[in-house]
Amino acid sequence: INEWDLNKTAARRDKYYASSLTRFTPFRDPIVFRKGQGQYLWDTEGRKYTDLLGMNVCISVGHSHPKVVAAAMEQAQELTHCTTMFYHPTPAHLAEELAATMPKGHEWVVHLTNSGSEAVDLAMTMARTFTGNLDLLALRTAYHGPTAAAQSITGISGWRHPGMPGNVAFVPEPNQYRGIFGPGTQPYLDEIDRTIASATSGNVAGIFVESVQGYGGIIEMPTGYMSGAAERVRAAGGLYIADEVQSGFGRTGANFWGFEADGVVPDIVVMAKGLGNGFPIGAVVARKHVAAPMAEKFMFHTYGANPTSAAAARAVLAVMKEETLQKNAARVGGALLERLKDLQTRHEKIGDVRGKGLMLAIEIVSDRASKTPDRDATTSVFEACREQGLILSKSGADQSVLRMVPPLCLSMDDVDQTAEALDRAFQNL
Ligand code: PMP
Repeated sequence: INEWDLNKTAARRDKYYASSLTRFTPFRDPIVFRKGQGQYLWDTEGRKYTDLLGMNVCISVGHSHPKVVAAAMEQAQELTHCTTMFYHPTPAHLAEELAATMPKGHEWVVHLTNSGSEAVDLAMTMARTFTGNLDLLALRTAYHGPTAAAQSITGISGWRHPGMPGNVAFVPEPNQYRGIFGPGTQPYLDEIDRTIASATSGNVAGIFVESVQGYGGIIEMPTGYMSGAAERVRAAGGLYIADEVQSGFGRTGANFWGFEADGVVPDIVVMAKGLGNGFPIGAVVARKHVAAPMAEKFMFHTYGANPTSAAAARAVLAVMKEETLQKNAARVGGALLERLKDLQTRHEKIGDVRGKGLMLAIEIVSDRASKTPDRDATTSVFEACREQGLILSKSGADQSVLRMVPPLCLSMDDVDQTAEALDRAFQNL
């Protein structure tokens, strides 16, 4: 059929997409996906793939989940859009349900947005408004989104562009494999104090932390880091802001939110992606007193709190419970991690295996002693997996990390197939 002709689509993209989008295709040869179901995708030729990328960590409960699609369709047919100034019940219910997922004993309020970067952007304004301080801290190798503000706290050079606002100081990411202070927590926390003293006015608005860095290459915050960072930043007048865009919604298995692993109670939490299972929606969930001063700065996003995405998100939360997907992430993710560790014993190029739940990664190096990132080998394994019907993601500052962030309904059979495909790909390097 004409419209599914890859060459015609490619020609249209080349001619009409802005150059910022045309090159953004990870595979040597592009793929046209036509159908998705659960953890699987099918291309136009009917070839089946396992989506270990979760279509960019958006697909939490499975592609085109019937309950999510039905909820969105029913809502769209009745009233597709209605902005926040009118009192629709669906987003109000969603706000209540999101607040209920937060640590008990605190009052939480919700501001719905269209995307993750808008949520980040809003959280930046909220933190600066509440504290009256301008300086923010962020981690190197962090990714927080493509808006100018979110770029300014993103610590990966390729995602930073001229024209970003400033007043951001970066602290080293506590990467336990190749961080500048080696494994451990304390030296990274000490560096937060030193950075506040040397690179800020001494008073900060807050720190943004991904509980597990996603694009950075699945960098899990070590025990004590999140709570320690919160303590240090609060001592300088700032807030602790958890970016749960990738690590939230049960993905890490042990907890619903990544920050819970360290017992820290954030002041602000930003979320998106898995919340909508592909429908565009994001949210800032904040302690009530922290969000309060924003009343003076009326802000709203046209499609934030739109009932169609909100209906989808409510269905996502319900399906997560009904299908016990967090538990599945812990069980299946644990099994996959073991298989990846087993591969590491047999393939010298696998420098590190890490992550938890269904947020896992393999880091590929030229040799284990030097730990030199091996970008070419990573690309070869990535392409070889694609040939075997496995969609992975290249990430990390050096593009030498294979990231696995599939829909949370991944099965044990998928684990076997993934491990076998990776094994063959490494054997053929
Ligand atoms: N924060 C994190 C941790 C992300 O991974 C992303 C998107 N990859 C964002 C924020 C930005 O979200 P969005 O693309 O929805 O704007």
